[in-house]
Amino acid sequence: MCEKTQAEILKEELFAKQEHAAYTCEENEIAKADEFCEGYKKFLDACKTEREAAAYTKALAIKEGYVEFDPNASYKAGDKVYYDIRSKALILCTFGEESLEKGAKIVASHIDSPRLDLKPNPLYEDAELALFKTHYYGGIKKYQWTAIPLALHGIVYRRDGSCVNVRLGEDEGDPVFVVTDLLPHLDKKQASRPLDEAIAGENLNILVGSRPFGTDGGSEMVKLNIMKLINEKYGIIEEDFLSAELEMVPAFKAVDIGFDRSMIGSYGHDDRVCAYPSIIAAFEAKAPKYTSVTVITDKEEVGSDGNTGLNSAFLKHFIADIAKTQGLEGRDVLRASECLSADVNAGFDPTYPSVHDKMNAAFLNKGIVVTKYTGSRGKSSTNDANAEFMAKMRNLFDSAKVAWQTGELGKVDEGGGGTVAKYVANLGVEVVDVGVPVLSMHAPFEVVAKLDVYMAYKGFKAFLEQ
Ligand code: MN
Ligand code: MN
Repeated sequence: MCEKTQAEILKEELFAKQEHAAYTCEENEIAKADEFCEGYKKFLDACKTEREAAAYTKALAIKEGYVEFDPNASYKAGDKVYYDIRSKALILCTFGEESLEKGAKIVASHIDSPRLDLKPNPLYEDAELALFKTHYYGGIKKYQWTAIPLALHGIVYRRDGSCVNVRLGEDEGDPVFVVTDLLPHLDKKQASRPLDEAIAGENLNILVGSRPFGTDGGSEMVKLNIMKLINEKYGIIEEDFLSAELEMVPAFKAVDIGFDRSMIGSYGHDDRVCAYPSIIAAFEAKAPKYTSVTVITDKEEVGSDGNTGLNSAFLKHFIADIAKTQGLEGRDVLRASECLSADVNAGFDPTYPSVHDKMNAAFLNKGIVVTKYTGSRGKSSTNDANAEFMAKMRNLFDSAKVAWQTGELGKVDEGGGGTVAKYVANLGVEVVDVGVPVLSMHAPFEVVAKLDVYMAYKGFKAFLEQ
């Protein structure tokens, strides 16, 4: 074995290095990551909408001993509560040993994902085919949503006020739905348009049937037959679509990717890949020093507005409510609090290297990405995390042996994006973005690496238990 040169020794001492987590993780951690991801895959298959994720998480929390938050009760260290925000967002909270005067540790992720929402009046017939009109939700590349199997998820309120759950296209033997596309033989005009104009938003119509009612003929007989079948199955009439939230999502299941099964392909990694690890971390941090607050929110993909999004008052009010149980003011708790805004970042894709600054890009398998700032065109609309807080989180992850890397969302002026970080930061909380790198983000089938999912769990747990 030859001696290291002085240059090699100096390089080791001075240069930053971010390695594949397989080289740096603890013994057995690859197996632990694989096992952890089996639970994550179940979560992905069960939770394709924010309502499903909120309900699933609430049921898990109740099993873990969480009870509904009562603003008039008093709580002691270790008490666990949940707060349900209109069935679309959820807060899990474990009271800490320290007073809330010392602040809370908040992990905030989102559980909504891009998809195709049915319009309030969706069903029509054309050329003896029945179709649904849609309005897409979030940032999608429209061409990716044609010619793939779609499942229908959501709820419908009937005229009498009763509610029915819809989930069709997921079980063995279920029918699925599809947005049709042009054949290559006849797409000369379509193919000459720019990618983002090839498929018009108004053309994301979903094929739902083709047989008429009866044999007598007449107008809209296919539509009538489909409405009759929907009525038989769900007890709803056409007008009930108005009081519904029905969403078309990819019908795929979460599956392993690669000969080594090191990655997971699925719909909705953004941002369930942060939500699930944060939930499990919250369950396991049973006796935290500081009060832990785990938020899974709705509406991030459309800008966090609306009363179930983090740009609304629900987090601020929840903090004020838990502060009140200790005779404190919400603003004093917020000022002393810290938050990991848990959201995905773009993974470096070797097929498309030009959009990244390789020195500041996130790579699959190098652990969780600590993103100092997001935004676009000169950091516009960003929470630019304070150096003091970056230093603290860096030391926290290092001492907990969490593989982490830095990452920026693409090259300067290549595009950009945002997260919930700025909304939490606007409340006076210290915030930084931390999450999992994703390939094909916002596609119907996104890719993450299992080691990164596990490191997210490990990182969130270290944060809640500090
Ligand atoms: Mn996201
Ligand atoms: Mn997103």
